Formats: sequence, C-alpha cells, structure tokens
Amino acid sequence: MTGGQKEHTNSEVLTNGHGKSGVAVPSLQDGFIDIPETASYPTGSLDFLAKLQKQEDKRASTSVDAEEPSKVKLNITIVGAGLGGLAAAIALTRKGHKVTIFEQAPELGEVGAGIQIPSNSSRLLIKWGLEPFLAGKIVKPHNIAFRRWENGKAIGLTKLIPQFERDFDAPYYVIHRAHFHDAMYRLALKLGIDVKINSRVNEYDEASGSITLGNGESYSADLVIASDGLKSVARQIVLGGVDQAPRRTGFAAYRATVDVEKMKAYPDTAEILAKPNLNLWVGDLRHVMTYTIAGGKAFNMVLSHPDRSDPSTWNSQSPDKILSGMREHFNGWDPTLRKIIDMIDSTMKWPLMSGSTLKKWISSSGRLLIMGDAAHAMVPYMSQGAAMAVEDAAALAEAIHLAKNKSDLPQALHVWETVRRERSGQMQEASLINGKLWHFADGPLQQARDEGMAPEVDGRDFVSSPNQWSDPTTQRWCYGYDAEAEIRKAFSRTSKL
Ligand SMILES: Cc1cc2nc3c(=O)[nH]c(=O)nc-3n(C[C@H](O)[C@H](O)[C@H](O)COP(=O)(O)OP(=O)(O)OC[C@H]3O[C@@H](n4cnc5c(N)ncnc54)[C@H](O)[C@@H]3O)c2cc1C
Repeated sequence: MTGGQKEHTNSEVLTNGHGKSGVAVPSLQDGFIDIPETASYPTGSLDFLAKLQKQEDKRASTSVDAEEPSKVKLNITIVGAGLGGLAAAIALTRKGHKVTIFEQAPELGEVGAGIQIPSNSSRLLIKWGLEPFLAGKIVKPHNIAFRRWENGKAIGLTKLIPQFERDFDAPYYVIHRAHFHDAMYRLALKLGIDVKINSRVNEYDEASGSITLGNGESYSADLVIASDGLKSVARQIVLGGVDQAPRRTGFAAYRATVDVEKMKAYPDTAEILAKPNLNLWVGDLRHVMTYTIAGGKAFNMVLSHPDRSDPSTWNSQSPDKILSGMREHFNGWDPTLRKIIDMIDSTMKWPLMSGSTLKKWISSSGRLLIMGDAAHAMVPYMSQGAAMAVEDAAALAEAIHLAKNKSDLPQALHVWETVRRERSGQMQEASLINGKLWHFADGPLQQARDEGMAPEVDGRDFVSSPNQWSDPTTQRWCYGYDAEAEIRKAFSRTSKL
C-alpha cells in the first residue's frame, strides 16, 4: 500500500465499521433516511456480500467446536431424543447451556429407512461438527430425476452436484435414518449432553418449568423444550388446553428397502444405480421416491398412494396382504420400477399427516415450548420435516444467544416463535403443493406441468418450473435459507421498532 492509502479488509467492506451488516453503508447523520442493510424482497443481488461475510466468519472461527458462549446461560430440559430433540440439545450446548434430554424409549433409534438431508439443514449440521460422525454412511446424489409413471421417461431434472453445494454452500445428502440418528447421538455425547432413556414424561408444570416422569421423579429447568413428535402431549398445554393435532391427508406411504445386489442382476434396474441419484416416478394420485442409502448398499423407497382407511386397522393386516396391496397400487407403472417393487420383501405403511400453522409454540409462562413435528408436522413431499427441526434448533440457540440478560428472554423467544411459525408454515404449504403438482392424472394439467419442466431435461434456460427442487424462487427460499441469519435479521427489525 502506498500514498497513505489504507488497505481495506473484507470485514471492513462488509461492516463499514458499524458492526456486521451485510452491505457497505456510508455513515449517515441523524435525520437522513437509513439505507437498508438487508433486503426484505426476494433478491440475489446482495448474495456476494453474504458470501464474503461467511468466508470472513469461517476464517475467524478456527474449529467447529469454537462457539461463543451465550451471555444468558440456561438449564434446559428437552423431551424427546428424536432428530429434533438431539438437534436442539446440540445447538444449545454449543452455546454454553446445560441440557438434559428425557426419552421415553428404552433404546434410541429411528423407525423407517432413508432420509434426505437438504442443504438448508446440512449447512447447520456441518457447522455443528457432525460430518466426521457421518463418515462412510452418507450418499451425495448427483441429481433428482422426475420420471413419467408409465415408462420412466425423464420429465424433470434437478442438478444437485455441483449446483447445490456451489449455490447454497452445503451439500445435499441422503442417509439411513438410523445412521443419521446415531451420528447425532454420538455428537451429543461428545458434547457432554445427558440423554436419559426409559424416561417417559407424564406431566408438565408449564408455570414452573418442571416435568414429572412415569416413575414420579420431577425435574425443574429454566426452559422445557418439548420435541415429542407428531402425537405431542405438550402441544395441547402450549395451546392452552385445546389441541390442534395434525390431520390425515387421505394419503399413506409404503416404506421399504431393496438390496442393491438384487438390482444389479438386471440391466434396466442396474441402470437406476449407475449414479447415486434420486429418482421420482409421478402419476395419478401416486408417486414413488427412491435413492440409495447406507453408503450405497440399500435402495430406499417411499411409495405414496391414496388411502382413507383407518390406520388402526393396518396392524391386523398380514405382511403378505400389505405387500400385495402395495403392488396393486402400482400396476401398469414403468416395468423397471415394477421389477424393483417386486424385489421388496417387506414393507410398512405410514399415514401421511399434516399440521397447520399453530397460533403459538410457547406456553403462557414462557417456560415451555414445542418444536419439530410437535409444532409443524408436514407431509414428506419436500423432504423437509427433520430439516425444519434442525432449523428450529439452530434458530432457538441463536435467539437465546442474542438475549443480553434474562429479562430479554421472553422477547428473544417471541422472535424465534414468529420466525419459525412462518417458515415452517410455508414449508407445510410447499409440501402439500408438491402433492398437487406430482399427482395429476394424464391430461391437460399433466401435459402443461411436463412442458413446464421440459427445459430442465433439454438443458434450456428457465425462470420458473413446476419442479420445486428446480424452480429458482422456491430453490433459493428453501435451500438458501439461513436459519440463524433470519433470527438476527428479525432481531434487528424488532430493535428498530
Ligand atoms: C415417509 C416419510 C419420509 C420422510 N422423509 C424426510 C426427509 O427425507 N427429510 C426430512 O427432513 N424429513 C423427512 N421426514 C420427516 C421426519 O421424519 C420428521 O419430521 C422428523 O423425524 C421429526 O423429528 P422429531 O424429533 O420432531 O419427532 P420424532 O422423531 O417423532 O421424535 C419424538 C421423540 O419424542 C419421544 N417422546 C414422545 N413423547 C414423549 C414423552 N412423553 N416422554 C419422553 N419422550 C417422548 C419419542 O419417543 C421420540 O423419540 C419424513 C417423514 C416421513 C413419514
């Protein structure tokens, strides 16, 4: 540097000496209008600044374990050690809170086979230091192929590699649920989180922040977080006594896995495995989502179909009856898909439920809150249910982190509740909309949809798409979302009021 010129660091360009901002803003005197630091309208024009800020943050933090402790330190009880409860425990412990989880099951684990970890979730998980615990277990799919029900012809295509990692700064993973859950559990243990199994919470005292277990033991905390799933008991307490439980959608999903060795025996089914892609066959009221898990050893399938029968009767059906029912639903579908369906030895049937936006997630005392499926159950068509729980967790830790003292806590929790209710409510809606987009019978709507997706397959430019994984606006909203930054933005808006 010569002639008295000052060398500007990235950090100065971004903050201009006024703390983190995202946009360089000249210093203005009182009385002049403020130039907004971030945009409230959908735009990508400020992305480069956010990217620089992230690089700056990465340089500043030397290891994933380094996290600035929160000023307000809480003693926190979490109910439920599902993916949501573990995510909350990890995010909060990293900020210096003392967390104990109570889980009713005698053993930890996850039911079902595969799960997608989209970029909006993987970005947070990687930051938390989960990646080493996932080693050898994850699959990084190259793309998502939408296929015509009848013949498997590609009708839509989302390129995940390299686009998602490049555009959203995080990979798109698929994994066996048991492996994902185990990785989260091991990270929780590494962080010193106390996970108590065989510990069913029977009662909540929301006014005092205490819980009572089935064996009569009671525990008090500054904050109780109920991540107790779709059938949450805490939800009704938070809502003041009248539950707003998730409702049936008239659809159910068969979940199954197929040994990839069986598929390798035939050229057409082997071709499906050639690249580790997600393949989605869509047709009249039905779809089949598939991908490989367990480091590529198992082929995961979710087969969605209409079913208005009472789920309580499903347990009494013989495994053979469930299998033959599944096959009947996909009679006449793509012969390659049919061949794979015939390779399924056993399956489970799941009712698909959806909640609607709840009026509140925090009890009147402010000592009990709900998150995860307890707060925002959704149909799995955006593959975002657990991802929303991971976002809830990161956002909650960030909101509490922004409280300067305990008296700020109610406001911090309120900001979290407002931001998360909106985000997860929109995701519930997007998930239901996929159910509409994918399930057209052959006819004018299906043809218009397929024409709308055709540029993806032909390699032509497009500004919108009926494929929500590819549609540029939906993509950015869904996968580019930064759960912590959104809380910081909401805080700065509230502090200006
Ligand atoms: C077919 C299907 C496919 C899906 N695919 C995806 C996907 O690809 N990507 C994605 O992100 N999401 C997906 N989801 C959604 C995802 O599985 C859920 O959103 C997520 O698992 C919810 O986690 P949770 O921790 O909130 O709830 P849960 O997993 O239900 O955990 C709740 C925990 O609380 C415990 N508990 C309940 N009551 C008590 C009590 N009183 N005392 C103590 N413990 C208690 C339970 O035993 C359980 O362990 C899918 C869902 C389905 C059905």
